[in-house]
Amino acid sequence: MNKAFHPFEVWFVTGSQHLYGPETLAQVARHSQEIATAFTNAASISAAIVYKPVLKTPEEITSLCRQANNDSNCIGIIAWMHTFSPAKMWINGLKILQKPLCHLHTQFNRDIPWGSIDMDFMNLNQSAHGDREFGHMMTRMRLERTVVTGHWQSKMVQHQIDVFIRAAAAWQDWQGARFVRFGDNMRYVSVTEGDKVEAELQFGYSVNTHGVGDLVQTINAVDEGAVDTLINEYLELYEVHEQLQPGGAKADALRDAARIELGIEQFLSAGNYKGYTNTFEDLHGMLQLPGIATQRLMAKGYGFGAEGDWKTAALVRAMKTMAKGLDGGNSFMEDYTYHFEEGNEMVLGSHMLEICPSIAHAKPTCEIHPLGIGGKADPVRLVFNVAGGPALNASMVDMGNRFRLLVNTVEAIEPQHDLPLLPVARVLWKTDPDMYTGCSAWIFAGGAHHTCYSQNLTTSHLQAFADMAGIEMVLIDKNTTINQLRKELKWSDVSYKLQS
Ligand code: MN
Repeated sequence: MNKAFHPFEVWFVTGSQHLYGPETLAQVARHSQEIATAFTNAASISAAIVYKPVLKTPEEITSLCRQANNDSNCIGIIAWMHTFSPAKMWINGLKILQKPLCHLHTQFNRDIPWGSIDMDFMNLNQSAHGDREFGHMMTRMRLERTVVTGHWQSKMVQHQIDVFIRAAAAWQDWQGARFVRFGDNMRYVSVTEGDKVEAELQFGYSVNTHGVGDLVQTINAVDEGAVDTLINEYLELYEVHEQLQPGGAKADALRDAARIELGIEQFLSAGNYKGYTNTFEDLHGMLQLPGIATQRLMAKGYGFGAEGDWKTAALVRAMKTMAKGLDGGNSFMEDYTYHFEEGNEMVLGSHMLEICPSIAHAKPTCEIHPLGIGGKADPVRLVFNVAGGPALNASMVDMGNRFRLLVNTVEAIEPQHDLPLLPVARVLWKTDPDMYTGCSAWIFAGGAHHTCYSQNLTTSHLQAFADMAGIEMVLIDKNTTINQLRKELKWSDVSYKLQS
């Protein structure tokens, strides 16, 4: 079966002990194999689930955890205790396990067989208490993990397994990932700054800077034939404004934009980078601020953050990875401006240029307009609207002693008005639980103006991801009240101070 995350796989691990005898253990193994196969065959599950032999001793458990750590295709473990597996056997394995863990609290049979249930049945089907023993140990060890409860054949359980897999795939993608910054942060800005050393320790990715001149060199060396090919691609994919078309008054500007795109892509590919930042304050030698280039590179899966915002670049990459194969898109975003009409409050989200066409609701137009900032030639950009529907904004913040992932669920609104004088890609949304509470909560939580906007991820994906990263997630959703949120922020502040 064609899985979105191939060749990544998740190992299906069942704990037991020798107490039950070979017959029962053989039965445990058959059941585990059946569940792993069913998960692999489920269309809603986006990675292969690989059955591993039943673990019966501390040595077997520790050895499996060591193997998982060293296997680059294994992105996580699903653990299930069909029978009782005394949890002290798990201590040494769990201590060294570096891969994300999903505790599947299920039971092989869905129903109690009322007429035939006997002690043999009870000896085999013990997850109701076996999984509690296992859960106790992970809680005692303060291990973050995903817990999924329910019958393994239910759609809900299989969906939650996939949520875990998607988060684990993004987590694996971050390990050893490289992000490049062209230039430093926008001067004096705080929220886009952060501790890159701490980020590498916590998240596994590195962030390093190149002077923009290094990039300009690559751009200037781009092959003109490749520019021709890319222009044809633009003409095919977008409604390219007449003045930008070959022979048009601004045809050269489109060639400049195409050259910038090819140059950045070559630079990223040569350096094995998964995303980048730039800043309009540092564009020496570039003809335009990259607009269409950044938009299209995001659509190809690269992370991006404007104004040197590397935390958002990495987050955009992670969320794009998590969403692989799902309908809808994920984009770098900024809270742009507000509509405070009573009863119809909303946010207009956009950026100067860099919104990813993966969230476009129709064929984008390709346009050129002055920017009024950055002091460069007019940049070419893709312009489009975004469809209505549930979505969310996520922001990664450096709190000094920890990272905070802040998430706000929103409802995107079908645009009612043309914006003839604002030629940028844009999206309208209503924040949960309402504009006033949602925005005040975001301010209290210290969230950035830059976010990753997602049409296809849920708060569960981001919670699982935050758990794997071992960071705080603060959620602003339909249930948020300011009073409760402010207390939560104060309490978790104390909690993190005790831990550090
Ligand atoms: Mn910005």
